[in-house]
Amino acid sequence: MATSITSVPFVNEPFLDFSNPEIKREQQAALEAVEARLGHEYDLVIGGKRIQTTAKITSVNPARPAQVVGIHQAAGPEHAPAAMAAAQAAFPGWAATPVQTRVEYLLRAAELIRERKYLFNSWLTFEAGKNWAEADADTAECIDFLEFYAREALRLDAATTPIQLPGEHNTLRYVPLGVGAVIPPWNFPFAIMAGMTAAAIVTGNTVILKPSVDAPTVAAVFFALLEEIGLPDGVVNFCPGEGPGFGAAIVAHPQTRFIAFTGSKKVGLEIHESAAKTQPGQRFIKRTVLEMGGKDSIIVDANCDLAMAVDGVVASAFGFNGQKCSACSRAIVDASIYDEFVDLLKEKVEAIKQGDPAENFYSGPLISPVAMRRVLDYIEVGKSESRLLLGGESVSNEGGFYVAPTVFVDVPATARIALEEIFGPVLAVIKSNGFDHALEIANNTEYGLTGAVYTSDRSLLDRARNEFQVGNLYFNRKCTGAMVGAHPFGGFNMSGTDSKAGGPDYLLLFTQGKSIAEKLGHTTPAGERQESGPGL
Ligand code: NAD
Repeated sequence: MATSITSVPFVNEPFLDFSNPEIKREQQAALEAVEARLGHEYDLVIGGKRIQTTAKITSVNPARPAQVVGIHQAAGPEHAPAAMAAAQAAFPGWAATPVQTRVEYLLRAAELIRERKYLFNSWLTFEAGKNWAEADADTAECIDFLEFYAREALRLDAATTPIQLPGEHNTLRYVPLGVGAVIPPWNFPFAIMAGMTAAAIVTGNTVILKPSVDAPTVAAVFFALLEEIGLPDGVVNFCPGEGPGFGAAIVAHPQTRFIAFTGSKKVGLEIHESAAKTQPGQRFIKRTVLEMGGKDSIIVDANCDLAMAVDGVVASAFGFNGQKCSACSRAIVDASIYDEFVDLLKEKVEAIKQGDPAENFYSGPLISPVAMRRVLDYIEVGKSESRLLLGGESVSNEGGFYVAPTVFVDVPATARIALEEIFGPVLAVIKSNGFDHALEIANNTEYGLTGAVYTSDRSLLDRARNEFQVGNLYFNRKCTGAMVGAHPFGGFNMSGTDSKAGGPDYLLLFTQGKSIAEKLGHTTPAGERQESGPGL
């Protein structure tokens, strides 16, 4: 199968059309089937060994916190040595496994996820509070990562040196690094969790996977699928645990060769610092792939399709309740159209319906009481800095962690709510005077993840192309919804190491290049040159 996929180009997984009654029925049936499976207890799995701990992590439905989604063992720092030993024991065999075989595991996983996508969507709805379309986008992105990295691994395996020196045979191979810690966030608990894991293992590394305590069940179901397809024991070790406990211990471990992390700036910087400290017995510089937060802006120019711009801002700010790193949290609007923009925006935001994502409301709950508190605190800050136009309070609904879609207007460009990541349904509208000013505001945060510009003036787009400092820039469209392959994803500055997940450079981060030069004519027949090695 692996060799044949090279002739089948990568295509993004299509999204489900829930306006189709048959698809809607299937999704409803899957939600019922998954609801009947909620509350199950999952094991810690290290080197294929199932482990129970006294401490547990209980994952609940953020829309109905009385409903337990899954109970998990809590890996603590004391589990780090065993997890490392298992991943190290599996490493030589896995690294020597032909890349084609490793690729086949990814493709088989993608195939099964595709078959079960309604079920995976349902897990995402119950555990992360995603509405149907958001859940489906997460599942589709997961399939995309598996399919894309499978092809990328084969491409990398076929790498050649650009030059062959006369009298030499020159080759270039990308070899695995070793054991990596994969530490995903809760908000794309399927795509980002599985994507970072897949990139690490398809390139021949072994992994200690520590999912977020806020969404470990989706990871447990994915891990069960990896077991089902026969991934060798120890290649992925499933270790849910607290970030500051198990997570920090695995980052600091002297044998952790790399850390693939996606999450907040604060934790990303802590990992960066910890990984930089050489531990006794450490024989390499740890590599860190750190994708962090954002404070993303949409510039709305005086000359643009205003209705389209308002739709783009609303979708980017309030899709999944602003809980995306790419979410628009600042609309920078030209003074000449500011009042009209605010009127249209108000109308659209007032029309947002909030409720249980299992019933497919557009806007659902925040992930946790902690997240709700943080967002409400920022709303209080916002009230002291600017004018509250809409929302601004929690919403009571079956104990769920709901905050109403919130808009602040006339926000100073240097207000805290204009500069700090809130990670919730809070939009700051900032007035600009001309495009120079808009760009200046757009670049005034420490972040640089996504951004968008709405204008009909090509010369302004050309300026933004050069001067808007973000890793993912969009023109006349929303700033969320990056597609694997088309929009390699990752940010500048405090948004991370710009790893460009879903892009052609991503797998390189999980490998090291080995250049081999052989002077020709000096081998005996018994030691003939190997044209192909054990793969990556
Ligand atoms: P978080 O930083 O709180 O947690 C992320 C992961 O790190 C979790 O698994 C957590 O348990 C773990 N962790 C926490 N403390 C740790 C420590 N000391 N050592 C090791 N691991 C530790 O982030 P979150 O709340 O899960 O996710 C939201 C954040 O992620 C937002 O800031 C968002 O912008 C960001 N994010 C970024 C991207 C991107 O591609 N740039 C994508 C999604 C989310």
